[in-house]
This record gives sequence, structure tokens and C-alpha cells, in this order.
Amino acid sequence: MKTFQLFLFLSIAGLPLAAQVQNRELFDPKVTEVWEPKARKVTPGATAGEAPSDAIILFSGRDLAEWTSLDGSPAKWEVKDGAFTVVKGTGDIKTKKVFGDIQLHIEWRTPATIESEGQGRGNSGIFLQERYELQVLDSYESQTYRNGQAGAIYKQHGPLVNATRKPGEWQVYDVIYNAPRFNDNGEVVVPAYITVFHNGIVIQNHVEVRGPTEFRGLPVYVAHGKASIKLQDHGNAVSYRNIWVREL
Ligand code: MG
Repeated sequence: MKTFQLFLFLSIAGLPLAAQVQNRELFDPKVTEVWEPKARKVTPGATAGEAPSDAIILFSGRDLAEWTSLDGSPAKWEVKDGAFTVVKGTGDIKTKKVFGDIQLHIEWRTPATIESEGQGRGNSGIFLQERYELQVLDSYESQTYRNGQAGAIYKQHGPLVNATRKPGEWQVYDVIYNAPRFNDNGEVVVPAYITVFHNGIVIQNHVEVRGPTEFRGLPVYVAHGKASIKLQDHGNAVSYRNIWVREL
């Protein structure tokens, strides 16, 4: 910005808003152009859902190399046909890498055979930073509490709409997650926020996460740093595939 432009910009910017609006012709349009730093180049995936060039691939269909059981032993869920499936009783699994703010793409499928109802039907979950559950559930014509159905931030925010596909069909979550910020005393100063698209439909619009997911009672934040993405073994054979994140 040239000195004269800067001077003009500052002198006009200092005027009351109404005066600025009346004097717009005095502004050089270049004054409000931002050129540097340039946006980093990212090559998009060739098709919707395909990882872009700067994504961290967490599952590409072959193995669970990016995942571990919570006790650090190898993840014991079954990998087959380009997906992996909860093996009941083997426990939750989590990513070896840890994350803060992310964009997450994850595809999931509840069992085609319906064996139960409500919370017992195709239940799993995606825990952002190991704490904040985005519910995975077969909510296709199945009844449960709204803030516990598919796409809920469990027990905190029900989804705006029910975008669930039939059991046995693949579904997609695209998530924008902003991690909470804590001060040196361990108090939360900015809560976590989450936006979720379910099969391309907005179901969570920048909602405030109130604290870690709790089955009983109200959530209370406890300070933490970067953490894994955790997937829940809720005893149902839920499958996952094509999982990638971009750090924001
Ligand atoms: Mg769950």
C-alpha cells in the first residue's frame, strides 16, 4: 500500500460509518485488496469424498496401521473389502496421530440386518479428541432420543434433520471441528465448535460443544491438548471406510 493510499485509507476509515459510505468514491479499490500471503495450493480429489492432496489418510482400505486399541495394542477390528468393522468386545480404537482443529471425512455403514431398536441399533461413534462424540447410529425409521440419534453431538445437540440412509448403505460425515482452548489454569476460554454434513446435508451448524460426552449428567470441560480420533465399539458391527483429515 502506498503512503498516500494508506493516509487516505486511515483518514477515511476514521470517519463515522455513514460518512465513509457517502465518500466511497474516495477509496482506491486496491486499498482493500489482499494479495499476500497467497493461499496454499491444494489439489482437490477427483470425485466428491476423495482426499485432497494435503489430507492425512487414516484409512485407505487396506489396514489399520494408523489405528491402535486404547491400551496401545494393535487395533483388532476386522478389515475386509476396503472397509473395517467393529469386532464386538475388542474395544474402542483410536488414531495414532493426534489432532486439534480439523476437517474430517469419514464414511460409515450400519448393519443391513436389523437386530435391535434405538440405541442398540447400529451404534458406534466418532469421538473428536477422544472426548466429544458425534453419534453413529442406525436412525433410519428408528426411534430414540433426538440428541442421541445419528448425527447428534451425543446428549448435547440433536441433528437439524434426519439425513440417515437405510441400514446397510454407506453414509458420509464431513466435519469441521474447532478444538477448545484452555488457559494456564485449565479453564476453558473458548469451547469446541462443530459443523457436520451428513450425506451432504448440514445437520450441525457450528454448535458449541459443552464439554466431554457423558452418558449421565452434565458435561464439564477438563483441559487437554491435541488428541486422537476415537471410534466406539458399542457392540454393533458398524463399518467404516475412506477416512481422512486435514489439519486446519
Ligand atoms: Mg455411540
